Amino acid sequence: MTPTNPLHGKTLAVLGYGSQGRAHALNLRDSGVQVRLGLRPDGASWKQACADGWQPMPMAEATEGADMICFLMPDTAQPAAFRDHVEPNLAPGATLMFAHGFNIHYGTINPAEAHPVILIAPKGPGALVRREFERGRGVPCLTATHSDPRGDAAAMAQAYADAIGGGRAGILETNFAEETETDLFGEQAVLCGGATELVVAGFETLVEAGYQPEVAYYECLHELKLIVDLLQEGGLARMHRFISDTAKFGDLSRGKRIIDDATRDRMREILAEIQDGRFAREWLAEDASGRPRYDALLEEDLKHPIEAVGARLRANMPWLKEEDPTENSTPSDARSIEEPAA
Ligand code: NAD
Ligand code: MG
Repeated sequence: MTPTNPLHGKTLAVLGYGSQGRAHALNLRDSGVQVRLGLRPDGASWKQACADGWQPMPMAEATEGADMICFLMPDTAQPAAFRDHVEPNLAPGATLMFAHGFNIHYGTINPAEAHPVILIAPKGPGALVRREFERGRGVPCLTATHSDPRGDAAAMAQAYADAIGGGRAGILETNFAEETETDLFGEQAVLCGGATELVVAGFETLVEAGYQPEVAYYECLHELKLIVDLLQEGGLARMHRFISDTAKFGDLSRGKRIIDDATRDRMREILAEIQDGRFAREWLAEDASGRPRYDALLEEDLKHPIEAVGARLRANMPWLKEEDPTENSTPSDARSIEEPAA
């Protein structure tokens, strides 16, 4: 790292060692940034961190004297961590860094004005942020500044995004509102909510019509990856080049009957709930009440027949298993193991 780099000589406190935390901490360290890990001593990721060669410390201790505090724990855990461990120990002028704008945008964390507040949001899960970095590549990042009392916030955000590998793939400036609202919309309507319901609905339609569940699984779930890879590599044009004319005609003449004006109206509804804060309030209340609905919905999702068929068929393709050290403590595992102690 050159002495002109805004992160040169700075100490960063990374709080959280799950999906994003582990990837950021390791990438920053490999880029020559001085990193401390702040974790809960009774949390499961403390052991993982030690196994990766870190000497984690409690969050309050990591915060003391650090130049930047990176909030890389679940969004719902951040307000209490800020209030109890960070705010009382924050050095004057220390920068607060987020990987998602949720708590700043919806006002659940309100730092004093003397602190720069920046956003570096990788557009991909942590495992990919680490894997791509190790391959000499990167995951694109959005950056933003919410508060810039010294005039160095944007440069720090850029340097951070570079240090985790984002510069190799593309860094785009945005603001906290745009990042928060589009990120929530994307995961609800398209990436997580939309895509999985499309897959499950297609699977159910075929199975209900008497086709083998295994065939329905390959058709509606397994093959989606091939299509998504083509889309990511070269957009609609690349996908069209690789699929048959028959598939293309089916796509072009039938797709708009699946995603129609009524679907678009519901997308606008979902976006409005995000923009006016209804989704955020619902999620924070759900979390505060111990997540009964979240747990019930998750259980319902995981006991769908597509899961049993998929597990059986994937056993024939062992290479699908990710070669990632956090594999056995996925973020959701870490959450369910650790949350009661919080
Ligand atoms: P995660 O669920 O993987 O975080 C787990 C880590 O947080 C563990 O180290 C755990 O010990 C710690 N933790 C859990 N509960 C805690 C608590 N109550 N107090 C203190 N520490 C606690 O989190 P994540 O998915 O990496 O998300 C971190 C941030 O990154 C969030 O703001 C999220 O929106 C953002 N983000 C996530 C992704 C993603 O793909 N996961 C992508 C982009 C941005
Ligand atoms: Mg997201």
